[in-house]
Amino acid sequence: MKKEAIVLLKKIYGYDSFRKGQDYIVNSILNRRDTIGIMATGGGKSICYQIPSLIFDGVGIVISPLISLMKDQVDALKVLGIKAIYINSTLTKEEFIKAINELRYNNVKLLYLAPERITNEKFIKLIREINISFIAVDEAHCISQWGHDFRKSYLEIPKFIKAMNKKLPILALTATATPRVVEDIEKFLEMENPFKYISGFDRENIFFKVEKSVIADAYISKYIRSHKNMSGIIYANTRKEVEGLYQYLKEVKGYNVGKYHAGLSKEERSEMQEAFLKDDIEIMVATNAFGMGIDKSNIRYVIHKNIPRDLESYYQEAGRAGRDGLPSEAILIFNEEDIATQEFFIEANEETSDEQRKIKRRKLDEMVRYANLTSCYREFILKYFGDKRIKNYCGNCGNCRNIKDVEDLTIEAKKVISCIGRAKEKIGTSTLINILLGKADTKIERKKLNEITTFGLMKEKSQEWLEEFVNFLIAENYIELTAGSFPIVQLNKNSFDILKNLKTIKRKVNEVISFDYYEDTLFKELNFLRKKISEKEEVAPYIIFSDTSLLEMAEKKPKNRWEMLKIKGVGNQKFKNYGEEFLKTINKFTDEDIKKIKIENFIDEKYLDIEKIENLKKDLNLKIDTELLKDILIKNLFL
Ligand code: ADP
Ligand code: ZN
Repeated sequence: MKKEAIVLLKKIYGYDSFRKGQDYIVNSILNRRDTIGIMATGGGKSICYQIPSLIFDGVGIVISPLISLMKDQVDALKVLGIKAIYINSTLTKEEFIKAINELRYNNVKLLYLAPERITNEKFIKLIREINISFIAVDEAHCISQWGHDFRKSYLEIPKFIKAMNKKLPILALTATATPRVVEDIEKFLEMENPFKYISGFDRENIFFKVEKSVIADAYISKYIRSHKNMSGIIYANTRKEVEGLYQYLKEVKGYNVGKYHAGLSKEERSEMQEAFLKDDIEIMVATNAFGMGIDKSNIRYVIHKNIPRDLESYYQEAGRAGRDGLPSEAILIFNEEDIATQEFFIEANEETSDEQRKIKRRKLDEMVRYANLTSCYREFILKYFGDKRIKNYCGNCGNCRNIKDVEDLTIEAKKVISCIGRAKEKIGTSTLINILLGKADTKIERKKLNEITTFGLMKEKSQEWLEEFVNFLIAENYIELTAGSFPIVQLNKNSFDILKNLKTIKRKVNEVISFDYYEDTLFKELNFLRKKISEKEEVAPYIIFSDTSLLEMAEKKPKNRWEMLKIKGVGNQKFKNYGEEFLKTINKFTDEDIKKIKIENFIDEKYLDIEKIENLKKDLNLKIDTELLKDILIKNLFL
């Protein structure tokens, strides 16, 4: 690996090392070899073309079908201090001319292009005058009829590449490609002996599960309530379902939700999408019309209210969760009746041939098999896509958790049992729990139960935990409740067996994944600050810093520039733009501290022009000779 690439990774992106595959792909392109990279969503494909573009002379071209994403991508690069522009059909004539001029004179490193009209002769002539370093084709599976998302415009790409007046290295990237699609990519793009990196399709950080026999609306509402301030998508199969759920969640429950389906006007849709990206709307209720071109990284959960038509759609939609790599959840709510809706869609579509209908039915069958699965969900999905690396057990899905994660609660049970024994009184569950928590009420004091040795024995537990645990012990008959209107807790043979170590107590771990950090005060404050900055700069919050970075800041509490730069996702440019404010929030810094940080910021500047130094002086209200200050700063440079 070229050292330069690693230095850039740290300096610009704030990451210590390349992820698996990124290094091979970057290396291969730097060696000017045609390359095909297949990496799961969230695997980090962008860096694979961004870093080479910075190292090569000239402009790297990225062809991407997602016009709606281009602005976001260019914004994100701007925040990193990388000069990028885009050319697509949304540009006015003036904007187009401006873009071409930027390419000619302004040291642009990346140009995002939509595949439409790129073979227009005039356009090719303009591009030929520019020093192009390589061409990356994003979502490369769109070039194949065998892919799930074939786009005619992608057939323009080979013509465009051929029209360039020199041989350029080609990088094809996608998250989904069967061997057949890979073959097509290689053939159509006329790649010469390309280097291929194919990673698995696994999304390790997503917890997959299926909920059966639940009332969907109630389940979703409860889920949202226990996942406050988090971003999520809820997919439903029809507009009507979306409208119904939206009304319920918004009007009845008062949640901060948006809706998205093809029945809304274009303006309404883009308004909703924008609000969701900016975290103004927390939850989006949508049909599958929503999601193309969403690379919002901090989506914590995706819930499907109804069964989707096939696993391709399901995996793609569920995969919108957790692009930042943090734990996330994909939940499918399964009701048998929903199968009929999907069958109806298949039968009712008159454009579908009999052959296609058969394929669609088969795909739906597989989807239903998934919903009824009792073994590992992940293994099933990955096998479906031809990836056999997970065998039987992934440890991070609804079914696997049920098998493995049991906790030993024998000691806890002993504590509860001895408390009942010590109390020697007729007590009910609530008094029992209060004694264990060390909470004295008048009844406890009157009976002097606050003087027994087990008083406060489990005070480290929460009330809810103990209530649930005592109920569990009762349900499993380790202790008993008497009948009557004031039931009291009693010991039985099982209780004594536990005390005598003849029995142990195991309980399945609740298969909920932890989002505790969303409750962390500092994380909340940092989130709030990020939102404030994002509004000022008119970019989405996750572009400023990902949740991963905020979480690490809240945990490690960096005290100065150097510690801050160690946080994943904090590179030089981002530090320069936002570092101080975040440090200030973390440490409640004084003005003096901030002055120091501002000066430190200058240490990395290669060119210290007088204007910059004057600005610094003004900003910090320093009464020092400019030349002297420059001297000090430059000396610092070599310290
Ligand atoms: P993809 O396009 O493959 O879905 P992205 O390029 O959007 O993925 O990257 C997903 C996330 O992973 C982003 O938040 C990105 O900043 C982060 N990321 C990428 N490369 C690295 C790395 N080497 N170390 C840590 N995080 C990374
Ligand atoms: Zn599993």
